[in-house]
Amino acid sequence: MGINQNLFGPSNELVKYLGFNNCIGLSIRLSLAASSSTSNNIGNRKTRGRPVKYRFSENDILPLRLTSVDTQSDENDKFTRILPGDPIYICNECKARVWKDEAMRGNKTFQKKVYSICCLNGKVEIPNLHYPPEYLLDLYKGQSDKSKNFIENIRRYNMMFSFTSIGGKIDHKINSGRGPYVYRMYGQNYHLVGSLLPEDGHNAKFLQLYIYDTANESENRITAYGSRNISSNPYSIEFGTVHELQGLLDSVNPLVQMFRMARDRYEFNQAEPIRIKLIGRTDKDGRTYNLPTADEVAALIVGDLDGTTDKRDIILETKSKQLQRISELHVRYLALQYPLLFPYAEDGYRTDVYHKGVESPDDPGHIHLTIREFFAYRLQSRVGEVSLILFSRKLLQQFIVDAYTMVENTRLNYLRNNQKILRASSLTHLYDAQDSCSSNVSDIGNRVVLPSSFTRGARYMRENYLDAMAIV
Ligand SMILES: [Zn+2]
Repeated sequence: MGINQNLFGPSNELVKYLGFNNCIGLSIRLSLAASSSTSNNIGNRKTRGRPVKYRFSENDILPLRLTSVDTQSDENDKFTRILPGDPIYICNECKARVWKDEAMRGNKTFQKKVYSICCLNGKVEIPNLHYPPEYLLDLYKGQSDKSKNFIENIRRYNMMFSFTSIGGKIDHKINSGRGPYVYRMYGQNYHLVGSLLPEDGHNAKFLQLYIYDTANESENRITAYGSRNISSNPYSIEFGTVHELQGLLDSVNPLVQMFRMARDRYEFNQAEPIRIKLIGRTDKDGRTYNLPTADEVAALIVGDLDGTTDKRDIILETKSKQLQRISELHVRYLALQYPLLFPYAEDGYRTDVYHKGVESPDDPGHIHLTIREFFAYRLQSRVGEVSLILFSRKLLQQFIVDAYTMVENTRLNYLRNNQKILRASSLTHLYDAQDSCSSNVSDIGNRVVLPSSFTRGARYMRENYLDAMAIV
């Protein structure tokens, strides 16, 4: 089966997986309208002021007859079915498939063949994800009961194998009624990691499951996060799938391999203190390389620390009551939380990746890859790339929410660290109050001033309100 058949056949599955069900309806509606009428009634006096039903015209169908799909795809990478409204425009730089309106943004005449939404007009250059293991791909894409069970419970399966926990609070009530699944989170989001072994009297969780009591590992994982009562719930966790996923990650995931080494060492001598260092920095060029080996993701430390620890590294102790927070700028942040989306523990966002063609930090202009650009690139469907992220349905929703909080966290950190540039000092009443010592400064204003450019901040909302009032 060709790569693209995995992505798009037998029907318009990517659109469904992304949850844009309306797009499918739109596509079908437009194709029906095209066969019945070629007129365009937008602006008709009778329909003005009401929602307008768009009639498809002959011009809209033309892009489907362009050769862009045929010329830019290889033999194994053809669309099995194309409907008007499908993402048939392909970026010449990164091979992302984009929809017509995305291609038209700032490009009304279709002269440009490189787009901003995927790779910032070719500036963003990061490697595609590696082709996933066949077993995993079959679970994501297969039609068997096993695959259906996996997809239905994909968030639980992922949680069973993840190394870190999510700190934000998930709103489960929103899914109590009917309708499609919604992942909603509130509170501050962050990822936490614990010690290598559980406290006395506690069950093993997350990364501890890779080291502690591994003779009963599959049972422990299911007891921690799932249910084995399959007869009462058809969507419960399947023991066989957990066991096979465990074997798969043992063979391909370098993080898991390093934790297995720690387990062997612990079982060999339980009195000896061991630590694992999650390496936060890699020297290889992030534009061409994202597939690490076990040595590059983590290190096993027996005895005392040797002084080679970087400030971005995370040291996991054998036993510790404290949970550690992982910075979203840690290169393994995503791989630790989503082992079923990144089975090879591929690099996440890195702060030291330059834009395409930039060789030195002294080069002029905007030279570094930002976290928003990273996710905009990673969340595209591409010719020649099979991205498990796009097939993961409920886990895709979680991934996108998580990504959004990562982007917002870095923006807030920037504002917090650049208050001088943002002229926060011009808010003199804070300083007046401080000088007079007449009141508690912490009661006045905000410690960190968010400018009106920060979306949904107080100043942003006020500015929008004033703009709206000006129009009224
Ligand atoms: Zn592109």
